[in-house]
Amino acid sequence: MSADALRVHKLGGSVLPDAGGIRKAAEALAASAELPALVVVSACAGVTDRLLVIAERAARGETTTAVAGLQQLLEWHCEQGRQVLPEPVARGLEERLRGLGQQALQLCRGIAALRELTPRSRDAMLAFGELLSSQVVAAVLEQLVPMPVVLVDARHYVITDATFGAARPQLELLIQRVHSQGLLEHLRHGRLVVTQGFIGATAEGRTTTLGRGGSDFSAALFAAALGAEEVVVWKDVPGLFTADPLIVPGAQLIAEISAAEMRELAAAGAKVLHPDAVEPALSQGIRVVLRSVTEPGRSGTRIVPAREVPAAPLALAWRQPCWVYSCPVPALESSPGLRTPLLSIVSRTGSVVVSEFPLEVPEGWSAWEGTYALVTVVGGVPERWSILMLEALAKEGIAPTSCVVDPPWALRLVVRQEIWQRAVFVLHRMLLEQCFRCVSV
Ligand code: ASP
Ligand code: MG
Repeated sequence: MSADALRVHKLGGSVLPDAGGIRKAAEALAASAELPALVVVSACAGVTDRLLVIAERAARGETTTAVAGLQQLLEWHCEQGRQVLPEPVARGLEERLRGLGQQALQLCRGIAALRELTPRSRDAMLAFGELLSSQVVAAVLEQLVPMPVVLVDARHYVITDATFGAARPQLELLIQRVHSQGLLEHLRHGRLVVTQGFIGATAEGRTTTLGRGGSDFSAALFAAALGAEEVVVWKDVPGLFTADPLIVPGAQLIAEISAAEMRELAAAGAKVLHPDAVEPALSQGIRVVLRSVTEPGRSGTRIVPAREVPAAPLALAWRQPCWVYSCPVPALESSPGLRTPLLSIVSRTGSVVVSEFPLEVPEGWSAWEGTYALVTVVGGVPERWSILMLEALAKEGIAPTSCVVDPPWALRLVVRQEIWQRAVFVLHRMLLEQCFRCVSV
């Protein structure tokens, strides 16, 4: 097996909502996976949040509710297994889940006895989400794929520092371990390997987590360590669209986007995979692909480290409500503390800024009346197409309150909050026209 024939698949919580969802995700994966492959699994939807609540209750001494919450969670996982697995297989799974449940209960009682939730014990508790879900997913996959399935504990591979809650993994050690501790060996023998996202351990073996939403990062790390060809992030949507399709009818699926464009879009408010989360893969030239469990045959969105970007708008996103301020430019420069909540500078002179939160403004600043939306159109060489966007708005009688062309990727516009949706529709229509013109040239 050459390493570049290898894929890493990531199953996030959103595609693991319940037994039916787990089966659908596993079927999509089984049908499309040119194996061998490593499957990185998140906790089932909502489970990490529930574990957090349970841990906090335990720390307040609410032992009975905390324990009951854990037991419910455990029963829920057993029940999902029973719904999709043949009886004897479900029984085996249940035994393993109960083993994990015992450990979780012990930890919960410990937290309750001490009335103290440390970052370390919180991580140990949150890890049960992935430990439980990966058992269920592995058992379901075993029913669907022709080759042996092995479940490995990510904590034997992802060695991190001791920053509990936001632990930093060591790629060098991960590389060593995938070679020396059996993972690569399993893959070489054509086995399907399942492991947990989000979790790792210190060199002394203490469980850590990489931070919320960390499974994408885990998948990218494993891909980098294995020198994989591709990371497939399975979603409940087909990929990334030219605008949020729930708001903008006619939004189109984007086939390919660069990490830099994605970063701009994510910052602009698009709810997409954050490129930083898959940076270890991207920086090694490994493709990252978003695909849908509902339409596994559809090719989805490819995120590439870099691409030749045409001079055309690609996608748009927005944030609202926002608050707008005029400021003397030096005031902004000399108040670095104010930068954090500031989203954007939206005038050429730098004297108009947008914030996601109302600010306590310093001397010399003035707040604009009302609330606004910040709409960002992302695409290559915005100097070339921004004027067309503004003309299209003007034709519809929409005047942005402020705007700035911000090469290399963005046109930023501030509009009054009441009209953001109309503005978005007009901009998106123009965006599609420009995209198509660009393709047909
Ligand atoms: N289960 C973890 C969380 O909810 C990690 C992840 O889903 O990526 O944050
Ligand atoms: Mg998640």
